[in-house]
Amino acid sequence: MTVTSVAERSDDGCAPVAPALTDAGPADLWAAVADLSASVTDLEVISRFERDDVEPLAERAAGTARELGLVELELRATLVLADLERMRGNVAVAGRRAQDVLRWAAENEAPQLQARAHFLLAGAFQELGDLSRALEHAVRSAELLGDDARAEVRVDHHARLADCLGLQGDLAARERYDHVLALAEDLGDVDRQVLVLNNRAYCETLCGSYDEALVWITRLQALSEAHHVPLRVGRLDTLGRVLMELDRLEEAEDAMLPGLHPEVLDASLDGDGGADFLLTLAELRRRRGHLAPAQEVLDECVRRCERYGLTSIRVRARREQAELHAAAGSYREAFEGYRLYSDELNDLQSAERDARARALQAMYETTEARQQSLRYRELSLRDPLTGLYNRRFVDDQLPRLLAEPASADGEVTVALLDLDHFKRINDECSHETGDRVLRTVADVLQEVGPPSEGERSSGSFVARLGGEEFLLVLVGLAPTAAARHLDEVRTALSVHPWAPVTGDLPVTVSIGAASTDGLISPTPSDMLARADARLYTAKRQGRNRVVSETG
Ligand code: GH3
Ligand code: MG
Ligand code: MG
Repeated sequence: MTVTSVAERSDDGCAPVAPALTDAGPADLWAAVADLSASVTDLEVISRFERDDVEPLAERAAGTARELGLVELELRATLVLADLERMRGNVAVAGRRAQDVLRWAAENEAPQLQARAHFLLAGAFQELGDLSRALEHAVRSAELLGDDARAEVRVDHHARLADCLGLQGDLAARERYDHVLALAEDLGDVDRQVLVLNNRAYCETLCGSYDEALVWITRLQALSEAHHVPLRVGRLDTLGRVLMELDRLEEAEDAMLPGLHPEVLDASLDGDGGADFLLTLAELRRRRGHLAPAQEVLDECVRRCERYGLTSIRVRARREQAELHAAAGSYREAFEGYRLYSDELNDLQSAERDARARALQAMYETTEARQQSLRYRELSLRDPLTGLYNRRFVDDQLPRLLAEPASADGEVTVALLDLDHFKRINDECSHETGDRVLRTVADVLQEVGPPSEGERSSGSFVARLGGEEFLLVLVGLAPTAAARHLDEVRTALSVHPWAPVTGDLPVTVSIGAASTDGLISPTPSDMLARADARLYTAKRQGRNRVVSETG
């Protein structure tokens, strides 16, 4: 018995139909997009339940979205596919995909997609036993749901949040479960009510509140009778265990009996539910003193464990076998059985720990790799001597800045700065001194370079173009204000206490500037050429000065 985080099998609900797009003319396009969007939402709604048609439908929807260039819809369908991977046990693969989608959704401000990615990640971390991270994602998955989210999706996200709280033994889960149960009831969605009731009952058993668990599991039983939805083995298992813990053994066995029907017992695809159920029934029968029938169902449980490779249930079956031997008075076999159980349990626990650690590691690796490559990218845009941006950054950034629609606040001034008689410093002091001067100039430029007018000046930057030549790009200053600011920069450099570095040699700079000043689509090379011409003028006029439009 577990909180159901994997899909549930349900055969009702209408199958979503992906739109047929062959020969779609422009007039049909809007309709096709609307249809596709509805199909993806339907897929999200039914993917909570184990159905064979989800995968092909999701693949088709993703393909159609890709053809139409609808990235967000494509990624939503991708998440449905990733969730299937999670249910098949490929948690790390699913988690990684969800993290990629989450990143895209955050960068592109797609809150609904973000909510879906968080929903999947909450499930993945829950399965990996990282409950606090699961909870963080579950909280975000609920917070980010828009008002227009489908009611079923709202139930799913809030139910997962309740599960995450419940699995941590947090009593706040109760209120949450009440809330989602009410939502599912309003919807008249029996499958979702069953899911919520089962998970709530299970969480109550985790806190040892069996009386409370019984309330919910009884409601679950009543619901299934009223709607003629037979309870699946997993539910019957929860029911049997709760009654058994309350020492209502006969009632427990009666309640579990429908589960022995082959159709019910074999309903889960991986055999897991059936084996778990049989193990609980064996324990129940043993407790009632019915040892032969107990042995019978335990043998069947072990056969299933072996057929389906259910290691963890197999280990628990060993303990039950030892208990059965003990109950029959065969203490020697009981002792042997316990020893075997204890050895296998240790092996299992360390194997599970390893598997979990590997999966968690795999989920973080990509994030780290990406951060690493971002760091390399950032490094590749920096000048190693001064730490300022380099020419590559300028080539990348300047066209973008200049392409932005011109407005008073969007005025851009490009200023070329060249140190005066720098060669002299190299020659008369040393190349090392020259380097030190370049680094200090960079520091001063970073301090006074970009105007400190907050928002308006965002986008301003300083770069080293090479040698003793720097570029200062000012955004959001009118040409006169920019010229004034550049003169302040020039002054700051000339009054800097250079004596400890260069002795008697002054360090000054000549600046040539060009502003967009209402120009329509100025190119970076035009701007730089104008600035360069003015820099040349500044040098010719005697250096240590600024030449711009305004003089
Ligand atoms: P002007 O006022 O006309 O600009 O004169 P200048 O001496 O500054 O100009 P010039 O272009 O003649 O000399 C620039 C010198 O900068 C030559 C070169 O050796 C030196 N230089 C270029 N890169 C570096 C560097 O990374 N470190 C050091 N120390 N010197 C450099
Ligand atoms: Mg030069
Ligand atoms: Mg120079």
